[in-house]
Amino acid sequence: MTGPMRDDRAEIVDLPGDAPVEVEPTLAPRGRRRTLFGEGAQIACDNLVKIYKVADLEVVALQGLDLLVDPAEMIAIVGASGSGKSTLLSILGGLDVPSAGRATVAGHDLTAMGRRERTNYRRRVIGFVWQQTARNLLPYLSAVENVELPMILDGAAGSLRRRSAIELLAMVGLRDRAGHRPDRLSGGEQQRVAIAVALANRPEVLLADEPTGELDTDTSGEIFELLRQVNREMGTTVVIVTHDPLVSEQVQRTVAIRDGRTSSETLRRTSLSDDGDHQVIAEEFAVLDRAGRLQLPRAHVEALELDRRVRLRLEPDHIGVWPDGHREKDR
Ligand code: ADP
Ligand code: MG
Repeated sequence: MTGPMRDDRAEIVDLPGDAPVEVEPTLAPRGRRRTLFGEGAQIACDNLVKIYKVADLEVVALQGLDLLVDPAEMIAIVGASGSGKSTLLSILGGLDVPSAGRATVAGHDLTAMGRRERTNYRRRVIGFVWQQTARNLLPYLSAVENVELPMILDGAAGSLRRRSAIELLAMVGLRDRAGHRPDRLSGGEQQRVAIAVALANRPEVLLADEPTGELDTDTSGEIFELLRQVNREMGTTVVIVTHDPLVSEQVQRTVAIRDGRTSSETLRRTSLSDDGDHQVIAEEFAVLDRAGRLQLPRAHVEALELDRRVRLRLEPDHIGVWPDGHREKDR
């Protein structure tokens, strides 16, 4: 043997004149497969940081955000106003670049894209739906022309283009409105066209920033249902940013962002109750990042008046957290 040999569990190293010695590998614990962060994910955000500089002021919009989304998954991102949701979505949409950290979407490294790749990325890989209906559509083009526009920019041939645009409008339920301009459509219809526009070049990922923010409850429900249909039928990965509690009831996974970081995830699954009914069970989890950090829910922190330092104790199957008990002395 000339050099160290490697397998997944241990390294065998030949020492000159000695019997082989087993050396613990340093990279991964025994028995666990070594995986790269984000391997197999469609969207991977690794410790994303975004700092906006306004005059002399720095605003930290994202502070070490981690997020993984699987191919063909549909998730909702929720969080208070100012928590960094739109910042995250514009980074994922290739409209803005992070100050630090990494973001990969469908194999594209968003932190290392040149101009050409970025343009191509925005045209083909992702589709974007904004809250403001006016931002999604050109007012002087008909619905079908709006849907054709991204295809024209991508160089698609004329006859195919029209057929494909009509197909998409049919899918969003607006086949008979194809010739109407946006001002002749309702808000909900405009967002349906916007979804068709976003899907024009059959992107792998659809990003929607509060797509129902300007719609009433019933219409919002219809738009969510349409997004679910897109996810189901076209296999498009869908990420919806929203304030709307309705959405989180319609997706399997809701990610909550607090202060520029993912703080909790709610997973939903259906199970059969004793009397044979399907019931939806939602479970909320705190998110543990790769550095071992987690955010305690504000209510928990306040209930025990936790402040600055806490005691931790490792038990066989959980970790206990206590107030530090030295507060008076410290002050
Ligand atoms: P959300 O979409 O969750 O409401 P944003 O991502 O829009 O949050 O904003 C996160 C933080 O970053 C806020 O404090 C906001 O004021 C700030 N911010 C967002 N965009 C800019 C910008 N272009 N310039 C300066 N500050 C910004
Ligand atoms: Mg926003």
